Amino acid sequence: MPKLTGNCLCGAVSFVAEGEPALQANCHCTDCRQVTGAAYATLVFMKEADVSITGQLQSFEHSVDSGNVLTKEFCPKCGSQMFGKNGARPGSIALRGGSINEQELVQPQLNVFAGRKMDCTILDPNIPAHDKMPS
Ligand SMILES: [Zn+2]
Ligand SMILES: [Zn+2]
Repeated sequence: MPKLTGNCLCGAVSFVAEGEPALQANCHCTDCRQVTGAAYATLVFMKEADVSITGQLQSFEHSVDSGNVLTKEFCPKCGSQMFGKNGARPGSIALRGGSINEQELVQPQLNVFAGRKMDCTILDPNIPAHDKMPS
């Protein structure tokens, strides 16, 4: 895949990602809805080693039902959510589809936590919908 580039709203944080995403998914879980303020999060999972990040980040950790600790990284200046990490998947990082400039390369392959989607969200019938994150 060609390079993915992106930045936060104010531009203080930017990234360049090279290599093939492991997975692209729309996540409809409550955590993703609350942290993004959007109806769902479009997540592009990459190897952390393939992503170079410029700028300062602040982070927030929270634990989920599975017991895993998730980290959300955001720009301390403008508050844009930039990256997600899962303690159970070291070396993996989730980029957020909305911050990626090369929109045409953002192609979610599935919907996850579809059972928690907002009533107003229409799922794409051309990709599978899972109730959980496939492992
Ligand atoms: Zn910013
Ligand atoms: Zn989620």
